[in-house]
Amino acid sequence: MAVAVDTLQEIREKLEVGERLDFDDGLALFETDDLLGLGELADLARRLRSGGDEVFFVQNLYLNQTNVCRVKCKFCAFAKTRKQEGAYTITADELVEDAARQHAASGFTEIHIVNGENPHVDFAFYVDTVRRLHEALPDVHLKMYTASEIHHMSKLAGISHRDVLRELQSAGLGSLPGGGAEIFAQRVRRLIAPGKEPAEDWFDVHEAAHGLGIPTHCTMLYGHVETYEERVDHLLRLREQQDRTSGFLAFIPLAFHPENTVFERRGWRFTTGADDLKVIAVSRLLLDNVPHVKAYWIMMGLPLAQVALHFGADDVQGTVAREQIFQAAGATSGTEQKISELVRFVRAAGRIPVQRDTLYDELRRWQ
Ligand code: SF4
Repeated sequence: MAVAVDTLQEIREKLEVGERLDFDDGLALFETDDLLGLGELADLARRLRSGGDEVFFVQNLYLNQTNVCRVKCKFCAFAKTRKQEGAYTITADELVEDAARQHAASGFTEIHIVNGENPHVDFAFYVDTVRRLHEALPDVHLKMYTASEIHHMSKLAGISHRDVLRELQSAGLGSLPGGGAEIFAQRVRRLIAPGKEPAEDWFDVHEAAHGLGIPTHCTMLYGHVETYEERVDHLLRLREQQDRTSGFLAFIPLAFHPENTVFERRGWRFTTGADDLKVIAVSRLLLDNVPHVKAYWIMMGLPLAQVALHFGADDVQGTVAREQIFQAAGATSGTEQKISELVRFVRAAGRIPVQRDTLYDELRRWQ
């Protein structure tokens, strides 16, 4: 323990003089048993870099237009083949009608859509969906398609990532979510997602998006076969990308949920609360150039997300109506929180709730 305390003290000194943390610091942070010391350090980093007591959330609707997917990632409980029971693909008309009905009822400001990589539709299907959603709900921000999906579209259409993004942008796309990153190390990708494109493609999509002025998000799926070294490598690669293009709005750590996946049959368990808090804290400490770190309450549950607000997180994602991907993998946190509930939950953590839009412009604040 004395070693851990000394290590944290050395890292604190670096933080206080604004010195960047390196790979060995990241490893030491993951290896420490001093969980509360780590949380305190991450909270200090958050305050030193950006400041206040605000905790952000957005009012959003999650939709999945198709769960048909060709990739078969081993950690995924969402994807189906076209002939499997429960497989679906919704037309643009049906999707728009559903979204417009929901919008009339709740007035969300963001639609978040990710899908399986469906080999039975073409690129026009995606462009048409974005265009129609944008026409029907011009004031709603469309945050759609992971880098993996953009890569899939580039294969479908035989054009570059940049050209795919340019077409989607002119149809009304506002930003990209951060999925598909998993863990960048090729050893891990081969084990958990052998059918997925290499990490370089994920970066190429995000770099192209940032070059076109499309902001994006970044993620890390942890709690399966990855080592601490591979987590640190992942975070530092994100930091390097952000140094080059500055287009990431937020980082979202995603805990692996084993239910209904091949890993459940092998007896794998959910991550522990201590590990979830550690990942939030180390992310905040290493990602000194990404403005926001999210405690995704759907994944962590509200009580732990509340604690995470003292471990470096400053965003709880949002009202998240209708999330299906973590629910398929055993998340028990429900799929919708009303604004009043989120406000109560943020206040009870001693922080100031701020409703934001996707680009972090403030819409409303509860003092
Ligand atoms: S994680 Fe995405 S790409 Fe992988 S199988 Fe599931 S839906 Fe398909």
